[in-house]
Amino acid sequence: MAFDIEMIKALYKKLPLKVEAARKLLNRPLTLTEKILYAHLSEPIPKIAFERQKSYVDFNPDRVAMQDATAQMALLQFMQAGRPKVAVPSTVHCDHLIQAKTGAVKDLNEALDKNKEVFDFLASVSNKYGIGFWKPGAGIIHQVILENYAFPGGLMIGTDSHTVNAGGLGMIAIGVGGADACDVMAGLAWELKFPKLIGVKLTGKLSGWASSKDIILKVAGILTVKGGTNAILEYFGPGADSLSCTGKGTICNMGAEIGATTSLFCYDQKMAVYLQGTSRSDIAAAADEVADHLRGDKEVYESPATYFDEVIEINLSELEPHINGPFTPDLAWPISKFAQAVKENGWPSKLEVGLIGSCTNSSYEDITRAASIAKQAVDAGFKTASEFTITPGSELVRYTVERDGYLNTFEKMGGVVLANACGPCIGQWARHTTEPNKLNSIITSFNRNFAKRNDGNANTHAFVASPEIVTALALAGDLTFNPLTDFITNESGIKLKFKEPEGIEMPAKGFAVEDAGYQAPAIDGSSVNIIVSATSDRLQLLDPFAAWEGSNLKGLKLLIKAKGKCTTDHISMAGPWLKYRGHLDNISNNMLIGALNYYNDKTDNVKNQLTGKYDTVPGVQRDYKSKGIGSIVVGDENYGEGSSREHAAMEPRFLGVRAVLVKSFARIHETNLKKQGMLALTFANKADYDKIKEDDSIDIEGLISFTPNISLTLILNHIDGSKDEIKVNHTYNEQQIEWFKAGGALNIIRANVKV
Ligand code: SF4
Repeated sequence: MAFDIEMIKALYKKLPLKVEAARKLLNRPLTLTEKILYAHLSEPIPKIAFERQKSYVDFNPDRVAMQDATAQMALLQFMQAGRPKVAVPSTVHCDHLIQAKTGAVKDLNEALDKNKEVFDFLASVSNKYGIGFWKPGAGIIHQVILENYAFPGGLMIGTDSHTVNAGGLGMIAIGVGGADACDVMAGLAWELKFPKLIGVKLTGKLSGWASSKDIILKVAGILTVKGGTNAILEYFGPGADSLSCTGKGTICNMGAEIGATTSLFCYDQKMAVYLQGTSRSDIAAAADEVADHLRGDKEVYESPATYFDEVIEINLSELEPHINGPFTPDLAWPISKFAQAVKENGWPSKLEVGLIGSCTNSSYEDITRAASIAKQAVDAGFKTASEFTITPGSELVRYTVERDGYLNTFEKMGGVVLANACGPCIGQWARHTTEPNKLNSIITSFNRNFAKRNDGNANTHAFVASPEIVTALALAGDLTFNPLTDFITNESGIKLKFKEPEGIEMPAKGFAVEDAGYQAPAIDGSSVNIIVSATSDRLQLLDPFAAWEGSNLKGLKLLIKAKGKCTTDHISMAGPWLKYRGHLDNISNNMLIGALNYYNDKTDNVKNQLTGKYDTVPGVQRDYKSKGIGSIVVGDENYGEGSSREHAAMEPRFLGVRAVLVKSFARIHETNLKKQGMLALTFANKADYDKIKEDDSIDIEGLISFTPNISLTLILNHIDGSKDEIKVNHTYNEQQIEWFKAGGALNIIRANVKV
């Protein structure tokens, strides 16, 4: 399970040289973000690479992390690369597929049974290709990464949006789609548009009920759910250095809720202490030697407005605890205003469930602060008024807090300890209720609170707060309770006013664990068999896509002309389909079922040109496929916005769509289409969208001389015998044209590995 200290030392050795070169190039002091990104450039590049929000630049990440749900397709694709081992250290974490129902042991056993084939596949593929495997029950990906793999100055990508949590240890850590993870594991560079930089200056010091969680809840209120888009948040200032390392992790974790590319803190003593406490003293010692390079330059922090695109300042000494929600994490309420907001908005004030833990807030410090509130209640003879659950972030934390008596305190209060897994945070929650659509309120120390996120009920008002605030409110059973000012009263009429919470950053006796749940891969995996049942409906090995036939494409049928917004969710819906993430054939039955057909304003209802009848989109496309007929999808503006979900590109490719022609693309989806060997085209004249008719057969010309920056021609053969000729643009470079010709980027990687 060990991190690679030699790799880290090598990075730290070149860091001073890289930083000096970047300073020279830009002729100015540098932020920490710039230093880390510069040190990870895949090749020396000119100044333009630093122009924020302008150019795409290639980087070499140090690590890849994958959670069990997204790892399936990433690894199925990686298997196609033909490599004997991953090119960079990588890990898989089984955390998303465990449903919370009755308690840790029973829930875990049920999940092991229900998801056996997925876990067996992930374990065997990890074993074969040199990937570290964290078994179900080992913990939640981001907490495990913080405890074992994150390090100051590193660059990591992960197939989960809260990968950003590792910024708490001074790492640039970014959530990506499975296709990006696959590329990096296969040895390719990773592309990122240089982000804009937001500086967050923290002054003062937290005290009393205010915690790190309240800092990010406040930032979310300031920036809103969109304010961090395409930006990296760099926290600095005396207040930043005073926060525990895990508290920093909480702040970076929830940066995902404001849309930030990532967030990070500078290397400091708190990080050193956390590294030492988690058996990584050698990293702390190596980081100490280059400590100045693991922080932004002094001049930057002295006049941040000169170097950041935006600066926010928060005085921690004045920060009030916050409660955010419902339905969005940026609706921020200082606790003194919250009760009034509950009343004025008519939110259900009875609190049904309080949930603490998750990857966001289950550090030793979090648990001890929450337990200090629970203990006051237990000592005074109180029990929780709401249901109360605790989700430890890792077995290391769970074992340690159990040893130190904190879980017992929660149990005495009436709490239930759940498995070390995502559980209710991702909707894997068999909630105890007889009224699944009931209007109700819950409060969590998690990160997301969009409608239906936790329990699938659109009427559940979910609020987000620190673990200690959640614990206090659960004891009161009432959302309008303010633990800073109010009393709770039990059945015997005893009143209790809570004292301020007290937390312990690092366990006095050190962390302990019997079995952390890690499985090291085989040193030589060549004889390891990958376990996939031929009859599985959840997993399916991939076959390489066919290469381009070498001619122009003739007679493509129009599959759908999508009207208006068409996001990756419209193209490949989530919800119940997620269970088929590892089975391309089965999940392809959701292809474009959410897209609106321009001709009849219906979803999942398009004309089959061969029969003249209307049918589902996948149904019509499968008919074309069975007859060897290609098709084309037409779309509107910003087609494919949303997530980086690679299924949205793989499904049309698998079912035989040859081209996607739109007014404009969301860039990640456009790249995903190119990687799968599809044609991603845009109208040279957007008004030509109107020339596409429902019964068109379409020819694509110009492919034989397919060249960067040269348009292609489409012939629209209308059913009445008339024709239109239109120009279409593309953004393929030389390499991407090779992807198209080979039938996909992976086919090229595989060919190169074999040479
Ligand atoms: S605990 Fe929640 S936020 Fe964290 S990885 Fe799991 S689902 Fe995502």
